[in-house]
Amino acid sequence: MRRRVLIGNWKMHKTAGEASRYIRDFLPLTQNIASIDIILAPPFTALHVVAESIKDTAIGLAGQNMHWNSHGAFTGEVSPAMLCDNGCQSVIIGHSERRQTFHEDDNTINRKVKAAIAHHLTAIMCVGETREERDTGKTSDVLSRQLAAGLAGIGTIDAKQLIIAYEPIWAIGSGTPATPTQASKVHIKLREHLGTLFTTSTAESIQIIYGGSITAENIQSLLAMPHVDGGLVGGACLDPHNFGTIVSSATN
Ligand code: PEP
Repeated sequence: MRRRVLIGNWKMHKTAGEASRYIRDFLPLTQNIASIDIILAPPFTALHVVAESIKDTAIGLAGQNMHWNSHGAFTGEVSPAMLCDNGCQSVIIGHSERRQTFHEDDNTINRKVKAAIAHHLTAIMCVGETREERDTGKTSDVLSRQLAAGLAGIGTIDAKQLIIAYEPIWAIGSGTPATPTQASKVHIKLREHLGTLFTTSTAESIQIIYGGSITAENIQSLLAMPHVDGGLVGGACLDPHNFGTIVSSATN
């Protein structure tokens, strides 16, 4: 049985002080929630303060990105060991904003996934198609390529350190989420493909979550789909009360 997980991606929002106030408001809203995992992904500069504030809770902490090297002359980058040192158990890799704005390709993403696993971090690997790719019938090809290339060389044993996030680019920040049926169809295909990369039982154990314009209003219908194992939430997680409502809707 796969556990469900909700991940709040703060992107480039919140100073350390704002992060601390967020946690103060968020914790009381989630303290009795045990049936779903919650992970927060603040910016690097707020990781430490968030790690401190959630240390006695079940809430997990994720980086939003990282370099694949453990150290070196990479100005502006953060290493896997630095994420671990700041309390992270997981890291988002290959978000479409990294792919599109920062030109990360499948090879880069694969290096990062491998580095995350080597440092015992769960790799939350994002895949997703553009509107044009969907409209021209390329969704399946694009996702298969991203999945196979991003996970190249990852063994079945390491697959337990993976979460796959299906994030259609046209749904991110657009206010137009994938319908539960659209998400479900893709998740089933992704799981089939994971079965060919690993084994069927390994594929069954990997959480595949959906991201793109999740709200407190649509989370229940998305999670009602058997292959949708959770959500990656962007804009709607920035307000602690709003994210708290999403978490409680997801557990009702
Ligand atoms: C995201 O960027 O990962 C995301 C899902 O954003 P939003 O929820 O704002 O669409």
